Amino acid sequence: MLSDFTFREIIDCVKIPLIALKPMFNNGVAEDFEVLYVNPEFSRIIANLKTGTTLTCAVSMLENGMHWLEMAQKAVETKELFAETYYSEKKQAWFSFELQTATDKLVVATLTDITAKVSYTEQLKLSLVTDTLTTLPNRFQFYKKFQSVVDEADQTSTKFGLISFDLDNLKQINDSKGQQAGDRLLIKAARIFKSFENKNIDVYRFGGDEFILVAKNLSLADSLYTISDAVMEALNSENVNASGGISVYPDNTSEKEDLVKFADLAMHDAKKAGKNRVLMFTPELQKEFLRRMMYKTKMPAAFDNGEFELFFQPQFDISSNELRGFEALLRWNEPELGKISPEDFIPVAEESGFIKILGAWVLKKAFTCQREWEEKFAYNGVMSVNVSPVQLMDDDFLFTLDQIARESGVEPTHVEIEVTEGVLIDDTDKAVAVLDEVKRRGFRISLDDFGTGYSSLRYLQILPLTTLKIDKSFIQSITEKNGVSENITNSIISMVTKMGLDTIAEGVEKVDQLKILQELNCKTVQGFLRGKPMSQAAIEEYLSGNINALDHIKE
Ligand code: C2E
Ligand code: CA
Ligand code: CA
Repeated sequence: MLSDFTFREIIDCVKIPLIALKPMFNNGVAEDFEVLYVNPEFSRIIANLKTGTTLTCAVSMLENGMHWLEMAQKAVETKELFAETYYSEKKQAWFSFELQTATDKLVVATLTDITAKVSYTEQLKLSLVTDTLTTLPNRFQFYKKFQSVVDEADQTSTKFGLISFDLDNLKQINDSKGQQAGDRLLIKAARIFKSFENKNIDVYRFGGDEFILVAKNLSLADSLYTISDAVMEALNSENVNASGGISVYPDNTSEKEDLVKFADLAMHDAKKAGKNRVLMFTPELQKEFLRRMMYKTKMPAAFDNGEFELFFQPQFDISSNELRGFEALLRWNEPELGKISPEDFIPVAEESGFIKILGAWVLKKAFTCQREWEEKFAYNGVMSVNVSPVQLMDDDFLFTLDQIARESGVEPTHVEIEVTEGVLIDDTDKAVAVLDEVKRRGFRISLDDFGTGYSSLRYLQILPLTTLKIDKSFIQSITEKNGVSENITNSIISMVTKMGLDTIAEGVEKVDQLKILQELNCKTVQGFLRGKPMSQAAIEEYLSGNINALDHIKE
């Protein structure tokens, strides 16, 4: 009878290496996995993955450890059988690794030695360590080699550096000239990077448009600049633009994940500083990194403590002076650090995934206020709510939006969803599809910060917009004598008005600016001149008829 045996006894007899993992969720993302069970056959092949440990703890001890974690995450994400073949250098064997998500709480994985089945040419084809497009070794190879690079540096008391490069305009080229042109650019860039390969420099394609150079055997970190300068010169001479970041072992950190992250941070700093340059990771960036880590840890508890608050900034019709509506703007009142700007904490929340919770709260609060104000004050304006790309692209977004709209009883046509061009970066088609759905429900959609970023006119055509917000950087230079900003703003406004869209000028602080905007037929104004962001209480005071409650720059 089956009941004479435990399932454990039965599974222990299975001659296929088998392991059961329990996903550990953080904000809906399976960040790690607890090892629930390992059968004896699995332990025979991989001795150092034991019951009770987690995958992240075991990552460094496992061959292809990072890859394991990524595959397990993909299995949870897709909820389907996830299979991948990989070559183990240690065992000199090919394995097929198959993961199946049973429930949200269980992933079962098997590992089968398929060396006998794999022919030599197939082995080459299956090779996971080489990027097929550029033939450069890929990130798995990078992680595999990393420890030996560290060991060598320790033994010889030398330094090594990572120079992380990111091509500046691959996305634009893919968008405007097609995928094949993008591939050609990647191949060209790879060839240039590869020409720097020697016994002290390794080159990897890290993913997407990212490449990493590992420069070893250094006595001075500064020599990394010599290398990066030469690389940039070679790239630029062939019309390839890239931004790069440098991190140094052991000067910056001895943690491999951090070293990669630091090079990445410096690279993003280079992008911010105007692209097509290489910057080194600095103590300031280190501070910034620590600050972000702190925000990341503090945020969930701060949210539970009610430290987040929604402010509202009024928008006015320029010609009639009538109130058009409000933009909801998030605030974090941290008891020790004081007010933290959304510009500082929102990127952190996006990175950690916490934006989903925070963003849903913002929608709920803004919709509820809108309903209450309509009832209490016979108010009939529009509520603009900022939605981050991460939030919008989340699979649950439309469901959440519907639920909140239903519960609050808000009329979708009284709400405007504000997005930036950032939503189009990863998956343009998906972003457009989601926004089409949002529009279909009756919500208004505005494109925020127009005039920064790519500001491609194509975006105006493919996005289902109702409103365009002209960025404050334009408005602030609109009164300059050379007339450049004024001319550009004029063209934007007349084109956008012809398309039937509303225009909102942001960041209007001076009467002169407002006058020019009026001449240019800009419809709406939002800025400190007419009204600063205010608390809910102050807004209610204002809506109840007290005009003096409005906080603005006094003329
Ligand atoms: P944004 O969406 O462009 O919001 C407008 C920002 O400009 C606000 O900054 C506002 O206070 C500021 N501003 C308005 N008028 C003037 C002016 O006349 N002069 C100047 N110098 N600034 C003006 P704030 O509230 O600090 O928000 C910064 C950014 O944080 C927002 O930029 C938005 O990108 C983001 N953000 C704020 N709340 C949320 C939110 O609930 N969700 C998401 N995803 N992002 C948010
Ligand atoms: Ca906005
Ligand atoms: Ca804006």
